[in-house]
Amino acid sequence: MEDTERGYYGQFGGMYITEILNVCIHDLIRHYKRARSDASFWNEYQSLMMSYSGRPTPLTYAQNLSEYLGGAQIYIKREDLNHTGAHKINNVMGQGLLTKRMGKKRVIAETGAGQHGVATATMAAKFGFECEIYMGEIDVKRQRPNVFWMEKLGAKVNVVKDGTKCLKDAINAAFRDWSFSMDTTHYVLGTACGPHPFPEMVAWFQSIVGMEARQQVVAETGKMPSRIFACVGGGSNSLGIFSGFFDATSVELVGVEAGGLGLESGKHAARLVSSEGKIGVAQGMKTVFVQDNEGQMHETHSISAGLDYIGVSPILAHLRETKRVRFEAATDAEVVEAVRLTIRKEGIIPALESAHAFAQAIKEAPKMKKDEIIVVNQSGRGDKDIFIIADALKDPEWEKFIIEKAEAYNAGK
Ligand SMILES: *Cc1c(COP(=O)(O)O)cnc(C)c1O
Repeated sequence: MEDTERGYYGQFGGMYITEILNVCIHDLIRHYKRARSDASFWNEYQSLMMSYSGRPTPLTYAQNLSEYLGGAQIYIKREDLNHTGAHKINNVMGQGLLTKRMGKKRVIAETGAGQHGVATATMAAKFGFECEIYMGEIDVKRQRPNVFWMEKLGAKVNVVKDGTKCLKDAINAAFRDWSFSMDTTHYVLGTACGPHPFPEMVAWFQSIVGMEARQQVVAETGKMPSRIFACVGGGSNSLGIFSGFFDATSVELVGVEAGGLGLESGKHAARLVSSEGKIGVAQGMKTVFVQDNEGQMHETHSISAGLDYIGVSPILAHLRETKRVRFEAATDAEVVEAVRLTIRKEGIIPALESAHAFAQAIKEAPKMKKDEIIVVNQSGRGDKDIFIIADALKDPEWEKFIIEKAEAYNAGK
């Protein structure tokens, strides 16, 4: 990757920040670089992830699914088995250790669906940090259970009422807080986006996924996989697993975006594979955003709450240009079918986000040879998606259950 001093990857990345944040970001860069060149930091990180999050996460051979599809052999990297149920904890615990090194005692974070907020609040409880989370008003209403857990974990949840009251507005609010609190506070950004050094730093913490996956797949099968599939929201889980294979040019890396109701519908979050993805500068970085013809940020849609960010990691935008990563999109309907199949064939419930990677693998596996290997990164577990999945599968028993609950509630029972 190029020009890592200023955080550019080809034409993407950089640090588009206010004067006041400059000091703080440069302080962060200094500490991050020192940690990165100090082997004891990574050792401490690895043993923390071992004792607290159950790492290394397993690589599971999906034998039934592979036989059913009749093509490539499918292996699943089980990030769903992490503490808090997804890969997000990898980034958050890494930044927690760095916060401790910087001598700071307060952390702030943005959250959309609430997953990153819960992970950050968990880390803050573990490290004994004060914690405030910024969350858009609409998301607060949609994601009550996550707000509940953040508060029980000791975090203060600040409701953001600016703009569209969603994730991008929460990010702006968190940057505003940081401008005034940088002496005591670290901003734990949740994905490989934002100004330098966040994209590189988050990708570094997530690289633990790819390191393990490469070692595991080679140990188990005696060879390298043909393709790796990962879903792409901001880009952290995909960069995490891909980074273990960047130098192995025979391994094809496939990033899967949220195709929503289809690319033609305009209701999707496909920044890298749709014509609505255009280069712009926002949220501290130059990258590809979903925009209309006037350059206005466009509302996104996805069945999964974790893939509908308007921008994407500048590192991935660059990897599209260099063609090291191939990008695809899976529609909501394909994703629901992938969840159904994975549950029935393997007894594994993927998060709706992760199911985008499964959907694409399911499309491609039958056309591949039986001795080829695929790795799907299961970024998280799907328990959290029970309401959406039940609704999408039109389960009649579930509908009866919901109606009974609603009637009991209305009757004041
Ligand atoms: C947040 C989330 C994602 C999307 O974020 P990335 O930074 O693109 O990895 C994907 N899967 C799950 C389970 C998530 O919680």
